[in-house]
Amino acid sequence: MVKTIAFSVVVILGLSACNSHQPPNRPSQTASAPAGGNVASGGFSNRELQQFTALDPIDTHTHAYRSDPAFFAMLTRLNLHILDIELVDDRSPELKNLAAETKAAWQVVRNSDGRAALCTTFDPFKFREPGFTRTAIAGLNQQFAQGAIAVKIWKNIGMEIKDAKGNYIQADNPLFEPIYRDIAKHNKTLIAHLADPNSSWAPPNPASPDYSYYKEHPEWYMYGKAHPASKQQILRARDHLVQENPKLRVVGAHLGSLEADIPQLASDLDRFPNFAVDVAARVPYLMLQPRAAMLAFITKYQDRLIYATDNDFLPKSNTASTVKDWEETYARDRRCFATGDSLIYNGQKVQGLALPPEILHKLYHDNAVRWFPGILGGSQNGKVSP
Ligand SMILES: [Zn+2]
Repeated sequence: MVKTIAFSVVVILGLSACNSHQPPNRPSQTASAPAGGNVASGGFSNRELQQFTALDPIDTHTHAYRSDPAFFAMLTRLNLHILDIELVDDRSPELKNLAAETKAAWQVVRNSDGRAALCTTFDPFKFREPGFTRTAIAGLNQQFAQGAIAVKIWKNIGMEIKDAKGNYIQADNPLFEPIYRDIAKHNKTLIAHLADPNSSWAPPNPASPDYSYYKEHPEWYMYGKAHPASKQQILRARDHLVQENPKLRVVGAHLGSLEADIPQLASDLDRFPNFAVDVAARVPYLMLQPRAAMLAFITKYQDRLIYATDNDFLPKSNTASTVKDWEETYARDRRCFATGDSLIYNGQKVQGLALPPEILHKLYHDNAVRWFPGILGGSQNGKVSP
């Protein structure tokens, strides 16, 4: 985690992003002086912590591959459950070996005292090898047998991996279909992080929340590339897989990559009852768009939005700063959703959404339980068929 952000003076609505592998959205953080006395910053106050823990919060989008007592103590202190998500990133020395990652992630889950559940994955880079589909399914089933509750597909499908003809493979490729059917058959959930924010396809803009991410990760910056992946095509393929697998619960990570087109996201949610989205690393997009429209959207789709951060804890992460970063993210996000406080983002004054308690509980807890059966372990889980 390369979180080099200085949290000074005021609250900064940062997008937490595990920028070792994940998108985006690291805002260009510009702290400005508090506009009044009503601006909180940093980690939780005692009272805030009480309010947070009372939500029975669940974060359905984290990447934790390191077992450390201080990390587990934080989960307990925050009364937090997490979904620990695997992915294969061939460009990251820490994330390119699925077997090693799986071992580390299971260690986290097993040491977490029931606070972490596993979202496994398959290696899409083996796409062109004979028997790919069969091998992938066998691997997933082995993980399901051990208790994995979900499967992630990542943006390397659509934006990186190519077929024999040199075209980007898409999520609705026929070779993936039996995998999706297998996931549905086991009543597990598919997390689809496909595509990236629009800013990947837009000219460089220092004011964009994602500017520094793409500076650090030009490999995911499509603008100016000779043969860029097409966001439209990627999302069309995503929609197709959601439509073709009505019994499969699909959770679109990062607001389904429709952070800048909430009307389109609403329309997708209307079309596909088996589709929900997490808000990981996209809270600022909800805060920076007109408040009334965001409130209307969240209210209407209160059963389909799932709290998540994209926080990470990688093998080489520093534990103390990780714990601090995670806590500050949770404190900041809670202020956005639960309070009507003034907050400063990129020098812009915004107001917390002050969601009513019943919607907050759905966002932070109930929806995670419904869309990810097994996330709490044991008997506490609800079950939802989409
Ligand atoms: Zn992630």
